[in-house]
Amino acid sequence: MSKIHYKSVEEIELIRESSLLVSKTLGEIAKVIGPGVKTIELNKLAETFIRDNGGVPAFLNYHGFPYSLCISMNDQVVHGFPGDRELVDGDLVSVDCGVELNKYIGDSAYTFAIGEVSDEVKKLMRVTIECLDLGVQKAVAGMRIGDIGYAVQEHAERHGFGVVKELVGHGVGLHLHEKPEVPNYGKRGAGVKLEEGMVIAIEPMINAGKARVKFWDDGWTVSTVDGKPSAHYEHTVAINKGKPDILSTFSYVDNVLKEKNKN
Ligand code: MG
Ligand code: MG
Repeated sequence: MSKIHYKSVEEIELIRESSLLVSKTLGEIAKVIGPGVKTIELNKLAETFIRDNGGVPAFLNYHGFPYSLCISMNDQVVHGFPGDRELVDGDLVSVDCGVELNKYIGDSAYTFAIGEVSDEVKKLMRVTIECLDLGVQKAVAGMRIGDIGYAVQEHAERHGFGVVKELVGHGVGLHLHEKPEVPNYGKRGAGVKLEEGMVIAIEPMINAGKARVKFWDDGWTVSTVDGKPSAHYEHTVAINKGKPDILSTFSYVDNVLKEKNKN
């Protein structure tokens, strides 16, 4: 889409429902993800769960993407293919999910640690989630796109991490990718002004090492140039006055992981 699609209150409620189904799907993934699981099994689980709940996987067939989830492991940044590789202790797995429900799309991603990961990876996960939170805090009417990017970039780089520039967040709702682009870098007070009715996906992609990425000849997978791990978290957010209206939630994932950690 070439111009920003401003959503009505009713449309935002529909995107909230789609985003909720995305969030619940990530919660289902959280239940089963672990050592010995093949990522293609996670893809199957997600597709079944989404369809059983009346939705359609928004990524499947998007510009020919062949799966319902993007699953990006370790040095893969985003857009990885699910496959037959079994997860092992120490893997870092970004699971990105989109759902179309009642013609509206929600988009969210979570990065899971498999078993015990290195201290560097733990820090990368923590800082990337903090980047998302800091970016989301700027997603209020009157701020600008650059305020979000600045918040994300400043926090990541302060910790010595690389901010991916080649891929960005985006408007979302009627289509998976709408205007405006939402980069994870920028200048305060620069770029498109945020106004009520805008719905955007904020999705920091943060590398433990260098910022640069490479694009695989499968046409999709993106990985770090230096082979170091990368993390990715994403929320769909509606722009409001005063405070952001976060349409997706990690509460399902968090509750599952809390239970798992007890055992
Ligand atoms: Mg996504
Ligand atoms: Mg997205």
